[in-house]
Amino acid sequence: MFSLRTEQLHAPNGLSMESLLELAGDAVFRLDRSGNIFFGSRRAHLLLDGADAVPGAHLTRYIAPEDVAAVEAGLVEATESDTTARINARMSLRDGAHWFELQITRCASEDRQYEFLVVARDIAEQHATEERLRHLATHDDLTGLPNRALLSDRLRMALAQARRVGIGFSVLALDLDGFKKVNDALGHAVGDALLRVAGARFRTVLRNVDTLARVGGDEFVAVLPAAVDVEELQIVARRMISTTQLPFEIDGQVLYVGASIGAATYPQHGDNEVKLLAHADTALYRAKETGKSRCVIYDAAKFTLPEHDVSMEAAMYEAVRNGEFRLYYQPILDAHSRQIVGFEALMRWMHPELGSISPVQFIPMAEANGLINLLGAWALKAACVQIQHFEQAAGRSLYVSVNVSPRQFRNDQFLQVMDDAMKLSGLQGRQLLLEITEGILMSDPEHAENLLNEIATRNVRIAIDDFGTGYSSLAYLKRFPIAALKIDRAFIKDLPESVKDAAICNVVLSLASHLNLTTIAEGVENEQQLSFLSKQGCAMIQGFLTGRPLPPEEAIEALRSGVLPALILESERTV
Ligand code: C2E
Ligand code: MG
Ligand code: MG
Repeated sequence: MFSLRTEQLHAPNGLSMESLLELAGDAVFRLDRSGNIFFGSRRAHLLLDGADAVPGAHLTRYIAPEDVAAVEAGLVEATESDTTARINARMSLRDGAHWFELQITRCASEDRQYEFLVVARDIAEQHATEERLRHLATHDDLTGLPNRALLSDRLRMALAQARRVGIGFSVLALDLDGFKKVNDALGHAVGDALLRVAGARFRTVLRNVDTLARVGGDEFVAVLPAAVDVEELQIVARRMISTTQLPFEIDGQVLYVGASIGAATYPQHGDNEVKLLAHADTALYRAKETGKSRCVIYDAAKFTLPEHDVSMEAAMYEAVRNGEFRLYYQPILDAHSRQIVGFEALMRWMHPELGSISPVQFIPMAEANGLINLLGAWALKAACVQIQHFEQAAGRSLYVSVNVSPRQFRNDQFLQVMDDAMKLSGLQGRQLLLEITEGILMSDPEHAENLLNEIATRNVRIAIDDFGTGYSSLAYLKRFPIAALKIDRAFIKDLPESVKDAAICNVVLSLASHLNLTTIAEGVENEQQLSFLSKQGCAMIQGFLTGRPLPPEEAIEALRSGVLPALILESERTV
């Protein structure tokens, strides 16, 4: 048991503990056992000066009403536990309420009863810093609006509230039309200012109970509690869109942009956060496709998909929650040394009843319903972390190849997702290769160029997947920072007999060599193909000949033993 006696308050050199504390800038109070102040240090007097100090008043007289209960609890705690209670509370002083940390200790007093020693330390600055940090963690720096983390919190609250009272709510995904053009033509500073003003304008047409968050680039999300009526939603959406139709005057320039909105409503369009956001996003996508500056409300029947796919879609959301998606890794070998130099991460859906479902089936669906962003971000992170384990097992440097779908590539968050994955895993840029298709480059070359340049500054390499099956415009090989070509299996499978395919491979390999691009042949299934490709100068090969996509444990085993279980069929594996 520790209890401080009054005599112990005297420090050496005749200085009292109170004056020592005073030197440290803290105010010291002594209270009787009821909590009434009977002594105050000089600093304490200065503090309370003008705060209507009353001799013998209870400590709580000087505490802001919101914090009185906490201070009373502190007195009880100090009495009962014989330790120092530390309470953060606002003291009401002449110029308003200020944050203090009160350290309350029970001490023995001269009458053998006890008293309290209260040391009040000014923590206004510390408190302001904490508040600022809390704000920073939950708000977007640029616009001051809530960020994704706070949005997620608010969505959870809205869900809980809606379930309790049985009234739904809506989620709106907004995106500025023409923002990229402004940003590219006039620079980031103008773009940033535009986002700030647009965010502020959106906010003016919303109610206090609504949340407006900025979730990246020019993407905003609004949560509207209790707004479920289609008419009402359209009215709010129209108001938000019309705020952007007035010209924006920034830096002396007059700019015109618009906004598109996608809406999803609880519970009709989704009963959880992931579904609601994804469906609002799908609707937004549709709004953009069908003319912009409009609001589209999600409609499962219209947006998807043949009937069986709707249930498949629901099953996919369930599968994300249950962690049924896995990454398998297919070895990529140096065509000459036949040593493993990297792996391609390939997604699998391990369905509890249907078994392993091919990405050929579910990736297009995830692309259509927006879930690809979530799955793709997960895959990128998981693959970056996994390759570090593979390197440890191999004892040498390896790279990982990750497929990026068009919708992911268009998503403004993509760069951030990639940076996060690399930071999380500690991966070097050179160790990551992103596989994109030719179509991605052709559909929005300006966006592609900007993004690819950003990616290249991080030393992350880009490969064109399924090369030769897309638009076959070779000009882009010059325009974009591309590091590798993956020759599609279609040109490999009939090698070396097919004269046409042999000629195509030959041309592609020589083109690549002139443009200083590395080459990977896909779908190599036999020795003849390998030796043909190797002679023609193909750098790397990938295919069933040397390894099927493996679960990570087996890939590690293969790296350790140097033996590839190429001949075991994937379908024969036990999941
Ligand atoms: P891809 O990127 O072209 O991947 C190569 C596909 O060829 C893989 O199919 C692989 O298992 C298969 N393959 C490899 N070697 C051979 C071979 O020797 N013979 C034959 N017949 N096939 C071979 P998989 O795993 O079914 O993936 C299919 C496609 O799904 C991939 O084509 C890719 O476009 C997509 N995909 C897979 N994982 C992801 C992912 O994480 N994200 C995205 N966006 N797409 C993915
Ligand atoms: Mg690929
Ligand atoms: Mg491919």
